[in-house]
Amino acid sequence: MGTQDTWQSALDHTRALSPASFEQWFSSVQFESLENKTLTLTARDEFVRDWVKTHFLPALVEQLEQQLGSGIAVEWQVDSDLPRPVCDPPVKAAPVPAPTSSRRISRVPPRSVKRELREVLNPKYRFDQFVVGPSNELAFAAAASSADANGPKYNPLFICGGTGLGKTHLVHAIAHHVLDERPNARVVYVSAERFTNEFIEALQHQRMDEFRTRYRRECDVLLLDDIQFLAGREQTQEEFFHTFNALHEADKAIVVTSDKYPQQLQKMPERLVSRFTSGLVADVQVPRLETRVAIVKKKASLEKIPLPDEVAVLLAQHVQSNVRELEGALIRLAAKSSLTGRTIDYDFAKAEIASVAPRRPELMSVADIQRAVCNHFQMTNAELLSKDRHKSVAFARQVAMYLCRQRLRCSFPELGRAFGNRDHTTVMSAVRRVEALRQKDPQVNAHLEAIEQSLIASD
Ligand code: ADP
Ligand code: MG
Repeated sequence: MGTQDTWQSALDHTRALSPASFEQWFSSVQFESLENKTLTLTARDEFVRDWVKTHFLPALVEQLEQQLGSGIAVEWQVDSDLPRPVCDPPVKAAPVPAPTSSRRISRVPPRSVKRELREVLNPKYRFDQFVVGPSNELAFAAAASSADANGPKYNPLFICGGTGLGKTHLVHAIAHHVLDERPNARVVYVSAERFTNEFIEALQHQRMDEFRTRYRRECDVLLLDDIQFLAGREQTQEEFFHTFNALHEADKAIVVTSDKYPQQLQKMPERLVSRFTSGLVADVQVPRLETRVAIVKKKASLEKIPLPDEVAVLLAQHVQSNVRELEGALIRLAAKSSLTGRTIDYDFAKAEIASVAPRRPELMSVADIQRAVCNHFQMTNAELLSKDRHKSVAFARQVAMYLCRQRLRCSFPELGRAFGNRDHTTVMSAVRRVEALRQKDPQVNAHLEAIEQSLIASD
């Protein structure tokens, strides 16, 4: 058996143990070599490396040793750019790392501060109320690890993704967890908007010392929600930069959420962006149908709304891109049911949904756009998705990525996967490049318009 075959068979065996989780993690791992009983792998970041080490490596090494004899060594590299990851992502959820021992905390927070915090936190946003699926598995595991008593392993944790996909839920869950497990820990949860307002007020009333004590010295865990709000607010950014550094140096956990990837944040100074990317960036994406069904069922049981399975599926099919809206649809249905005295069944739900929002025609898919681009440039889909770097093929590929992003608002990682498992940064730069070319090169613009026309015609 050749090395490649040995590796492949060990891999297949490991995959079979837990396929969904395997795909989730091995889409961020690249095989380099297997030589002289040394396996070399590259992980996208330390978080992935450590997870794979603990959860998959023992089985994988055991398989390799069965074929090659004992004494397999594993060497790891870390690189955010993985052109050839082991596999496509994901199908299902993986377990969460459980918090362990307790960590030394310097000062006990006054009771009122803690009470104040609990009042700000949504009591329902807890880890056990969060449904984990392929779209949010990494963010969930990372959030759980940030709440860990051993302190932050990946600091800062930057959670990003579209609106209504659970970012705030996750940071509130961290706060609840830390407060429950380590009553002495000083947790500060604040939206970037509130941080800004407090900062301005402190400036106005000469209370900067107080402000800095709160955020820099009396804080063991800082949770800053919706950092995109700081865009263009230079003075607040400056203050936050120093807050960040003070906490980071003291090894205090920092978790930031954002509706964009760090590199996409507009009007944000480079030094802050680079701080954000220095730890772990974990995105939350639109959950798939099965996860949406699980979410709506969980919400129903939490709110004590009797919800038949078929209605849960109907709602999840109808509201696709935003969990907050999905929840809204459920609550509306429950309200209507209690007002009219009708039981929530399939027909009732169907009629309600139809009356609230007529279903949009099926959206165009990535495949439709890829097909249109292939037609236009006279190439096959295999070529479009291949690793071919010839200028003409690469250009067509970039155009297709750009159009998908423009028309479907897909996330970058999603597009990376749809385009032959490329890294999200590759997609980002492709989209940017085409955007820029379109502005200055009339020929590029003509290509794009022709493809757009063909898409409209087939819409
Ligand atoms: P974001 O901050 O990303 O805009 P939120 O955290 O406010 O989104 O989530 C919106 C709503 O959707 C909340 O009620 C939250 O509980 C719910 N939600 C989102 N994702 C999940 C999930 N995976 N499991 C359970 N509830 C979720
Ligand atoms: Mg939010």
